[in-house]
Amino acid sequence: MKTKILTTEEKDIREAAKIIAKGGLVAFPTETVYGLGANALDADAVAKVYEAKGRPSDNPMIVHIARASDIGQLTPMLSEDIVMLIDNFWPGPLTMVLRKKAGIPDRTTGGLDTVAVRMPDNEAALRLITLADCPIAAPSANISGSPSPTRAKDVIADMDGKIDAIIESEDCRVGIESTVVDMTGDVPTILRPGIITAENIEAALDKEVRYDEALLRGAELTGIDPQLAAEGEGAAADGVNGTAGGAAGADESGVAEGFRPKSPGMKSKHYAPKAQMTIIEGRRDKVKSEIERLKALNERLGLKVGVILFEEKAFIEAAHDFFSKLRDLDNEGVDLILAGAMSDRDGVGFAVMNRMLKSAGYNIARV
Ligand code: AMP
Ligand code: MG
Repeated sequence: MKTKILTTEEKDIREAAKIIAKGGLVAFPTETVYGLGANALDADAVAKVYEAKGRPSDNPMIVHIARASDIGQLTPMLSEDIVMLIDNFWPGPLTMVLRKKAGIPDRTTGGLDTVAVRMPDNEAALRLITLADCPIAAPSANISGSPSPTRAKDVIADMDGKIDAIIESEDCRVGIESTVVDMTGDVPTILRPGIITAENIEAALDKEVRYDEALLRGAELTGIDPQLAAEGEGAAADGVNGTAGGAAGADESGVAEGFRPKSPGMKSKHYAPKAQMTIIEGRRDKVKSEIERLKALNERLGLKVGVILFEEKAFIEAAHDFFSKLRDLDNEGVDLILAGAMSDRDGVGFAVMNRMLKSAGYNIARV
């Protein structure tokens, strides 16, 4: 298939909208990462998204809308909390899991009786949804399992020849995917962390917000909770070339044992660079010197080593740069990536750490 490269000019967005309305696939920019869009109400179109990405069909998609009032097509009733979150965070990087209205294809929601909805904060995306005149189902526009695309060139690298069109635009402002919060239970529960934090949501709702069990299990592996981290220690075997790595408490798919995630996407292997990746966690000065030591050691053995070490507490910058760094290092053909852990209990750093752990298949060494 020949993939058309489009711009964010009105005539191009019109063309893209026509493609979507006819059941085709268009990759488009959002403020988080680039999305791969199809008409959310057209099961055949959505099936093509799974195929283009190579995505497991039980992993549901986020449905994007351009006006808050369009949410009525997707969910039967809005609670006060849902309305508060819309008022506070939309358009923006917050996805809400809601009860699903009949008529939304099972393909879109992976057979669940809930639907994930958000309104992106990107002019071209909003215009595209408006002109297509339908909600747009869009996962990230990458091959399933590879790092999410935050630049037009990343989308082209993964999707050229597989989809109808790509709308080229600037690099994504946020760089990691939206926060996903489940609003179907008594307590709002975060299924995927993002730059809108639990604290932000708690402040907006004036009530407690929980993290899904699966996320906390992931956090244990970072050593954030020393008590729980100790349990994972036994699994850390001799790692690659002098690290204490080994996927602590994780099975071969990179998923920590005992996970029963509510969000199906959390169980699949994610964001993996081609290179072997190890996270070094500990006090900042020790992390730096361990990375230097391992880099020198592995380079002496003839390996090409890439390093990802963000400034301390520069969480927003880390979110912005993380996926593009992974892709750049892969393009440079590095064999090994050494990454410094971000220490943040539950803020934006926690969201970056969530992606970093998955990229590394939970391969973490403590110093
Ligand atoms: P992506 O489309 O790549 O940004 O991933 C979307 C994320 O939202 C995945 O982790 C999905 O599993 C999750 N998700 C989408 N719909 C639902 C839903 N109805 N319930 C729970 N999680 C969902
Ligand atoms: Mg994705």
